[in-house]
Amino acid sequence: MSKKILILAGDGIGPEIVAEAVKVLAALQQRHGLKIELEHALVGGAAYDAFGSPLPQQTMQLARAADAILLGAVGGTKWESLDIALRPEKGLLGLRAGLQLFANLRPAILYPQLASASTLRPEVVAGLDIMIIRELTGDIYFGQPRGVRRLDNGERQGFNTMVYAESEIERIARVAFETALKRNRRVCSVDKANVLEATELWREVVTRVGKDYPQVQLSHMYVDNAAMQLVRAPKQFDVMVTGNMFGDILSDCAAMLTGSIGMLPSAALDVHGKGMYEPIHGSAPDIAGKGVANPLATILSVAMLLRYSLHNEVLALRVEQAVQRVLDQGLRTPDIYAEGCRKVGTREIGDAVVAALSV
Ligand code: NAD
Repeated sequence: MSKKILILAGDGIGPEIVAEAVKVLAALQQRHGLKIELEHALVGGAAYDAFGSPLPQQTMQLARAADAILLGAVGGTKWESLDIALRPEKGLLGLRAGLQLFANLRPAILYPQLASASTLRPEVVAGLDIMIIRELTGDIYFGQPRGVRRLDNGERQGFNTMVYAESEIERIARVAFETALKRNRRVCSVDKANVLEATELWREVVTRVGKDYPQVQLSHMYVDNAAMQLVRAPKQFDVMVTGNMFGDILSDCAAMLTGSIGMLPSAALDVHGKGMYEPIHGSAPDIAGKGVANPLATILSVAMLLRYSLHNEVLALRVEQAVQRVLDQGLRTPDIYAEGCRKVGTREIGDAVVAALSV
């Protein structure tokens, strides 16, 4: 049966990079038996311009009906002065919350061909392949009560609440263990159980869920140590699982180990494996329309979509190998350019990946 994929190009470089990813999907459809139907809709600033909302109802309806969503990026200076509820980023948050996409999967992979792009020494990062799994719909970002109150002495006090229910911890832990089964079978759970009760419970529940996965080796690490270890010896990690706030920080830190923001995909999944897939970078207004944006993070997001929502590991690997081949050929967009390589634009990289799919 054919699967519905909703394409949300978004703003800035979004339409340029998504066009290349759509070429890849079309090639898989035409030449490799992938059964999909593509639909397109607006989100972010483009949706605000057309409909007065960053997440119009029709986009949300299509998103609910889709099996998976591929998103470019949203945002740009043009919309920065809007009321916060109308800003492009609200479109993204609305999709994540409305579709209950609670599991954020962020691989940090450093391709050997790009080892010099990292600010860390090549021997520390070459061959890096970590999967950070961040809980996305709970924690201090959503906990109540929250706000700024006036104390008896007249000064103001800001407050937020870190909360995690057992069921929320259990479902993200299961995602981590299931993911580890498809990788090197190690999970490191990150918390601050020595100080915060909410994360003491986190550790207890993750340990309990871990008993269902005897094939996976579970370890625990305090978040401060995890941050240190990520830059000291990142290759010790396979899957890291953590809450929303710690994951926010650690996943960006891990991304930067690779030094190339244009290369990293991500997924946000619901309990059924339906997901929204997007590059980790933003809409890059500084290079929008110039034809130089790196589309590989978006193309690699297609690989994640194939793996996690369409359960098509064969085609997921085909896409990832095609990207590797293009890097082997020495083709580089300016953001990952190094001496001795050939500098090319967005379309040429996309065309090269499409050609490499059939090798
Ligand atoms: P950004 O990720 O858009 O850009 C940061 C730097 O990386 C820029 O120099 C940009 O040119 C470069 N870059 C990013 N993606 C690239 C690519 N594919 N190829 C080559 N270079 C690339 O971050 P920013 O500048 O802080 O934000 C710009 C806008 O994007 C803002 O409106 C922000 O709110 C939005 N944003 C959106 C998302 C999202 O849609 N998920 C994420 C982050 C930021």
